[in-house]
Parts: sequence; C-alpha cells; structure tokens
Amino acid sequence: MDERIVVGVDIGGTKIAAAAVTKQGAICSRGTIPTDADRGFDDGLRRMTGLIDSVLAETGRSRHALDAIGIGCAGPVDPIAGTIDNPYTLPTWDGVNIVAPLGAAYGVPVAIENDADAAAMGECWLGAGRGGHTVVMVTLGTGVGGGVIVDGQIYRGAGGAHPEIGHMSIDPSGPECYCGISGCWESLSSGPAMAVAARTMMPKRPPTSISGASVVADARAGDPVARAVVDRAAAATARGVFTVLNLYVPDIVVLGGGVMDAYDLFEPAIRTLVSRNTMAPVDRITICRAALGNDAGLMGAARIALDRSKDV
Ligand SMILES: [Zn+2]
Repeated sequence: MDERIVVGVDIGGTKIAAAAVTKQGAICSRGTIPTDADRGFDDGLRRMTGLIDSVLAETGRSRHALDAIGIGCAGPVDPIAGTIDNPYTLPTWDGVNIVAPLGAAYGVPVAIENDADAAAMGECWLGAGRGGHTVVMVTLGTGVGGGVIVDGQIYRGAGGAHPEIGHMSIDPSGPECYCGISGCWESLSSGPAMAVAARTMMPKRPPTSISGASVVADARAGDPVARAVVDRAAAATARGVFTVLNLYVPDIVVLGGGVMDAYDLFEPAIRTLVSRNTMAPVDRITICRAALGNDAGLMGAARIALDRSKDV
C-alpha cells in the first residue's frame, strides 16, 4: 500500500510552491509556478491544480495516497471560511474561496492559514521552534508578520483573525504605516522600510539602487549611513522582541525572513535589550534565527494538512 502523504502549498505574491510530504516531514517531491494573480483566480486555480497533480505524480503514488492539502497564503485570509482576503498582493483573488474547489477536486480536507502562521507551524514542527510549548515566530521581510503557536495550535483571535505582531507601535515618532499607526515594527524593520530610510539619508544615490538587501550589504562593507539604518531596524526589532516576551512569555522566539540574513547584525541589540527585561523569565526563553529558510511556510502548510487529516 502507498505510504500516506499530504500536500503543502505556499502561495506568495510572486510564486506558488507545493510539496508532497510524508507524516514524518520528508519532502517526496516539490514544484513551483508563478502566482500571476492578475490572470484571475480561475486561471490560478487551474495552474495550482496542475502543480499539485505534478508533485503527486512525481512521488509515484496514486491520488488515493493523498490525505489532505494545507495552504499557507499571503494574508489576510479567513481560515474558517476558507477565503483569501488580500486585495494587496493577490488582487483578483480577493474574497475567493480556495478551499471548496480544491476539496471538491481531490476529495480530501483542505485548510488555509495566513503565511506567517504557516511559517510558525513549520518551524515548530521541523525547525527552530521544536520542543517549544509557546512559540512566537516573527518573519521580517517585505513586511513584518508573526505567528503564535501554543501547544501545536495556531493562536487565534476574534473571528479566527491572527495577531498582527508586525504592526505593534515601536516608536510613535516613526514613519506612518497603512495599518493606522505610526512607527510600527514593520515600518521600521522590514526590507522596504530600511530602503526608504536609506534613500532619505543617501540623497545622492539613485533611489532604485537601494534595497533592504543593499543596505545590509553596505553596512557590512562599513558604510556608516547604511550601518545607522540597520542599527535603527535592529533597535526596533529589539523593542519588538522585548514586548513579545512580555505579551506571550514564549519558550522560544524564532526570527525569520529575508531581513534575518542580517541576524548577526541585529542580534547584539536584541540580546542587550532583552537582558534588561525584569518582567519576563528571560533565562528560560530562547531567541534564535529560523532554521527552515524559505521552506518554513511550505512545511507548515504540510503540517496544517496533517493536523486537518487527523480531524476527519
Ligand atoms: Zn503598521
């Protein structure tokens, strides 16, 4: 008999990845397609089905070996209704139900979660969050997002909404954010936030030549302005982590996302500030970099599928 598998799908603004995964977390096959959300949802669903079919076929198993499909999607999403509510990065998919058509096509349970929650699940299952009772993962990249996992379950708020850790106000005098407050973590520490700050401080440089990654590279090369920008982002992240410790008292805080390629530049500010925390039991809290890289969301989606298959 075929070994049972699940499929994890990671939907981002530019690409969709899928993998067939065993109960033990081994990837049997994987594939990627462009998201191309501007081509409409029907087109996206057709291509996504083709991607899932191809990763299943590559495992050499029949469709009957599939137990469930889990999706991590650039949020906001409604995990209870199964809908995508993201007019920003998935414009023509806004409001669509993705769970129902995939469930009908494959005859298995399908679950969708916010990508930050999926990444947190992935790190808890197979990465830096393993063994934690309460784990907070913060992903710093194009935005700053977070997922909170308690005893293997995603923490949910009203109506199933997930906490927007990246939009905690860190510095009220900081840049205004679309979220409605100024100086939130995302507006200070995301890749684009570092690029915006650097463009203001480096008026002679062509703005298009400055990105979050270029600022980090310049800081490593000794550029004092770039270093100041990175230090500001690191200081904001230190304050963010400090508050996360007070709010959730997690066993483990996992920091991931592309900005954390500069983890070594951020870590001293985080450790220094956290050592001053007199409220949280900091000796019992591990703060570390994510371990799964770009696969965290994909593996978390697979974990979500496994959990859903057990409910049936
Ligand atoms: Zn914000």
